[in-house]
Amino acid sequence: MRLQRAARVILVGAPGVGKGTQSERLLGRFPQLSSISSGHLLRHNVKSRTPLGIQVESTMKSGRLVSDSLMLRLITNELYQRGWLETRKSDAITLASCSVLEPSIDPAAYRAAESAFLYGPDMSTRAMSSPAKDSASASFLLDGFPRTAAQADKLDKIIPINLVVSLKTPLDVIMERIEGRWVHEPSGRVYNTTFNAPSVPGKDDVTGEPLTKRPDDDPDVYKARWQSFVQTSEPLLNHYARKGVLTEIEGMSSDEISPKLYESFEKRFVH
Ligand code: AMP
Repeated sequence: MRLQRAARVILVGAPGVGKGTQSERLLGRFPQLSSISSGHLLRHNVKSRTPLGIQVESTMKSGRLVSDSLMLRLITNELYQRGWLETRKSDAITLASCSVLEPSIDPAAYRAAESAFLYGPDMSTRAMSSPAKDSASASFLLDGFPRTAAQADKLDKIIPINLVVSLKTPLDVIMERIEGRWVHEPSGRVYNTTFNAPSVPGKDDVTGEPLTKRPDDDPDVYKARWQSFVQTSEPLLNHYARKGVLTEIEGMSSDEISPKLYESFEKRFVH
């Protein structure tokens, strides 16, 4: 289905509510839409042992939030990389992006770019004077960012988000789901043994590689993440409610949520 105008969308929901699943479905339905998952980007950096990854690893393992300043730089650089924010070509810093973290780069250039990303010019302040592109092809979905009102405030100054969807599912339903969740780390593909099982148990459908448990899916760690979500989401949602871009969608499962999400999306960006 074709979008008529730029969709700049954020999904907000407790960890495990199915933001990743809904993102994938939206991307399948609206080919002009691309996505950034902050959790996936961070895990990719951890796995690739970038300076950022090393810095955030223990925070992520303990279920706490990564600092706003690191998050903002990670996301802003990713937006530039993908061309969703306008900038002079020479300003682009190339390392935060999943697509350029591969070791095919010359090692010296790789290290220089890494340190430029962590310690170099802060693209998030430059971005304030750069207009967002308004065509439908510059449509994107942010998954997991912003998580706090402070992050939202900073993002507003970079690019105006025009739809925020709050996804809601009861805690006990989510806990059950998390117990069955397995991921294919290299691609970020997510499976669930109860409702989205891989064709071969324990193996990724596309590559056949082994699936793993995310370290932060441990029940105690999960409770810390839930707590952190509850504390931060209210001011975040209030922030977007005040801007008139917030909608809430409730459901016990991803299949119940998806049709409501499509409807809300189409009403704003297709018709
Ligand atoms: P997720 O996959 O979205 O649940 O994220 C996994 C972990 O990455 C979280 O528990 C946080 O430690 C970190 N993280 C992801 N997004 C953010 C964000 N917007 N702000 C701070 N930390 C984040």
